[in-house]
Amino acid sequence: MCLICERIEMIKKGENPYFVKELKTGYVVIGDYQHFYGYTLFLYKHHGEKTELFHLDPLERAEFLEEMTIVADAVSRAFGAEKINYELLGMGDAHLHWHLFPRVSGDLENYGNNGRGPVWWYPMEKMYSDDSRPSEQQLADMKRKLLDELEKLL
Ligand SMILES: [Zn+2]
Repeated sequence: MCLICERIEMIKKGENPYFVKELKTGYVVIGDYQHFYGYTLFLYKHHGEKTELFHLDPLERAEFLEEMTIVADAVSRAFGAEKINYELLGMGDAHLHWHLFPRVSGDLENYGNNGRGPVWWYPMEKMYSDDSRPSEQQLADMKRKLLDELEKLL
């Protein structure tokens, strides 16, 4: 079972502390590491053979993209982004999942191109350091903020 499927199983058992909300095509979860404050993922409900956007039926794809866009809007409202960065990569786990990164000036510090550029120009060891993990209280606050904004938009 892939890591995303494992996390979804945890949601179904009520054991995923990062879970925010179930939508029609996927699950909204807060990211494990929060250097980019408000980092959120939108996990597609199914895995199997459908691991590319072009594998989805047009109607399903439209719904998945529409819901992801609503999640991005809610993330932006909840956490105050200057810009949202959208990533659908899948080289770790092919399972369709969006990474939604709220971006603000200075968040790359002096890395990247004089502090500008994609999130992956920030060093992995720093991005995934224990210092970037939200506390239980911070996580609870983030989930409440995001859920509030999502419910206004849905
Ligand atoms: Zn999976």
